[in-house]
Amino acid sequence: MWHVFENTHEAIVDEDTFNRVQELRKNKRRPTRTGRTNMFSGIARCADCGSKMYYCAMNNYETRQDHFVCSSSRKRSTEECDSHFIRAVVLEEGTLQNIQLVCLCVSAFEDEFRDALGALKSSETKKELDTKRKMLQKAENRYSELDRLFKRVYEDLVNGNLSETRFQMLSEDYETEQAELKEKIEMLNKEIQEFQEKTDNVEKFIRTAKKYVGIEKLTPAILNDMVKAVYVHKTDKSSGKRVQTVTISYNYAGILPNSLLNKFYSRCTQKETA
Ligand SMILES: [Zn+2]
Repeated sequence: MWHVFENTHEAIVDEDTFNRVQELRKNKRRPTRTGRTNMFSGIARCADCGSKMYYCAMNNYETRQDHFVCSSSRKRSTEECDSHFIRAVVLEEGTLQNIQLVCLCVSAFEDEFRDALGALKSSETKKELDTKRKMLQKAENRYSELDRLFKRVYEDLVNGNLSETRFQMLSEDYETEQAELKEKIEMLNKEIQEFQEKTDNVEKFIRTAKKYVGIEKLTPAILNDMVKAVYVHKTDKSSGKRVQTVTISYNYAGILPNSLLNKFYSRCTQKETA
């Protein structure tokens, strides 16, 4: 017989770190022929089929050819994914550049980022939550009051102080109002929870991004702290050059819209030169 009492003493690692590690542990990293592992294992995914990409380390001396391939393109199934392929160094360089840019922009335009990600400043968040909580309290109070009113009219009916018709009418009214209130209470609870979650996530994202302003090298710790997944797209050779898009999904913020990054990018670079 086990009894679990949570939060009774200070944690060794915070809950977010713990959860992230559990997630990463689910991605078993298979050792390659050379025994090398790569920090993008479990993080790199194929943009077309969503499968994880396998890390392939070819020989012991030449790491520049180490690459990732879509795991479903390696299966001998009839519906193979068009072979997605990216060299590990390319993936690393590209991801580092994006992280550097994102961190710089977030730290330079924190409030605007918060706004663009749909969160409010902490004072406004408090105001918004207070308003919603007050509305919730009011709805809950009225709901209990209707319970009491119903009891009262029922007693009146039993005591003969109220006609059957009148009782029917009143109780129907109370029931309708309670049903409406129930819906409203559920909606408000959901809204409060979502709002709180959204705000918490955006704050976590901003805090993390600010921590890594100016990094020059990507480490597994930074990658895991910042990035949830990278989606590797098919190479486009239509321009005559090899162009490969990688979409990065950030922890707590998801995929940042391109329009947002471009807007901040031009301003960040202006700010730097100024
Ligand atoms: Zn694929």
